[in-house]
Amino acid sequence: MKTDKRILISGAGIAGPALAFWLHQYGYSVVITEKANAIRDGGQNVDIKGPAQDVIRRMALADKIESKNTLEQGQKYVDAHGRTIAVFPKGAIGSLTSNFEILRGDLATILYDTTKDRCEYRFGTFITGIEETDDCIMATFSNGEKEAFALILCAEGISSATRELVLPGQTQFRYLGVYMSFFNIPRRPEDDYWAHSINGIGGTLIFLRPGDENVTTVLATFPVPDADAGTTGPSHRKALLRRALQGRGALADRILSEIENVQDFYFGPMSQVKARSWSKGRFALVGDAAYCPTPFTGQGTALSLVGAYVLAGEIARHDSLAAAFNAYEKMVRPYIEAIQAQLSPGMIKLLHVKTAFGISCMRVLQRLFASRPMQTLMRPIAKRNEESATDAFVLPDYVCALDSSGAFAACAPPTRIAGRRG
Ligand SMILES: Cc1cc2nc3c(=O)[nH]c(=O)nc-3n(C[C@H](O)[C@H](O)[C@H](O)COP(=O)(O)OP(=O)(O)OC[C@H]3O[C@@H](n4cnc5c(N)ncnc54)[C@H](O)[C@@H]3O)c2cc1C
Repeated sequence: MKTDKRILISGAGIAGPALAFWLHQYGYSVVITEKANAIRDGGQNVDIKGPAQDVIRRMALADKIESKNTLEQGQKYVDAHGRTIAVFPKGAIGSLTSNFEILRGDLATILYDTTKDRCEYRFGTFITGIEETDDCIMATFSNGEKEAFALILCAEGISSATRELVLPGQTQFRYLGVYMSFFNIPRRPEDDYWAHSINGIGGTLIFLRPGDENVTTVLATFPVPDADAGTTGPSHRKALLRRALQGRGALADRILSEIENVQDFYFGPMSQVKARSWSKGRFALVGDAAYCPTPFTGQGTALSLVGAYVLAGEIARHDSLAAAFNAYEKMVRPYIEAIQAQLSPGMIKLLHVKTAFGISCMRVLQRLFASRPMQTLMRPIAKRNEESATDAFVLPDYVCALDSSGAFAACAPPTRIAGRRG
């Protein structure tokens, strides 16, 4: 059986299809399995910043992504009655709305549309067993079938089951003390193109943001002492969220009235993933499954695009799989650890103030930071921070040549994957 160019990617979120794009570009044949029955197109606005912008330019997707830039005009903090407290227009320091952002679902759809004819997608399928031999890695699937591949690359997100199958107990989770829940609700005629945020008693923090013409996107985060509190099925998860939203004002009431009809519910403890090792034999991790920084860094999507680009490039560049995986980890890990370190549990605690007094203080701070003098004062500091973050990672060039538009024109053939040697 010839398996030297056949690669299985598990998970069709952001990292999986991005990885498939590059591996196909380098001449590999790619199968992607996704547990859900279709692409999961939920989620709020995600930033594409730093080196990730360069990645999408090299994929020749910059124009497509720019054409889907969100229409969000900025962010308003509101009180329990929906009255505005502070306004951060797009581009203001501290605004959620960035210049180059796209709905996560739109990005997932663009990546899927770009790759669906170049590789084989299998929805409603997941890995139940893995067995490695000297010349291949065998996957057993949820339908009972077995298949051999040269490599299995795991892009299953934060709660990856296959990661635990191959690297059991080797992943640390840095729980930040809150649960998060992303989902969509129907858009209403009165919805505008601003993000609305509210701090509720008990620490519940809600963000309602414009989606497309039909949906408004929701992020609700709330303190839970125990990281394992909500893992026992959809009804328990919705019950936890309902409790966190009860009595938290007009925005929360609206969400509560829609919650029963929510189909794709992304829910779980907000934890950074710190996999001790990102690979073993013919298996490697990419994206949130290896190094989720959490949505509050605003960098999860950017990191998964950069990680996928580097992993594919190193696989194509090396004769030895071990050397490819080592190079990938050596290059990307320091960049990711620096981003993960930017977020402290103290900061998360501050954002989720619990008492009426704490919320009043928070509102004073929100007004202060939105004021013109404060914005002027903070601008040079924010610019310096942004530049140093952008400079922190230089995207490597791989075997492909760029054409005049910046897209890859031609790629050298990939080297044969040489198993565990090296
Ligand atoms: C529905 C949804 C909404 C999100 N919304 C936001 C948001 O608004 N803001 C934000 O910052 N981040 C959001 N995220 C997380 C964000 O996509 C990631 O942090 C980042 O883009 C890294 O992507 P990833 O591909 O590694 O992980 P993910 O985007 O989480 O994708 C993982 C994929 O793997 C699939 N999967 C899981 N287990 C298996 C398995 N055993 N076999 C096969 N497939 C499996 C999942 O269904 C999912 O499609 C969301 C994720 C999802 C799934």
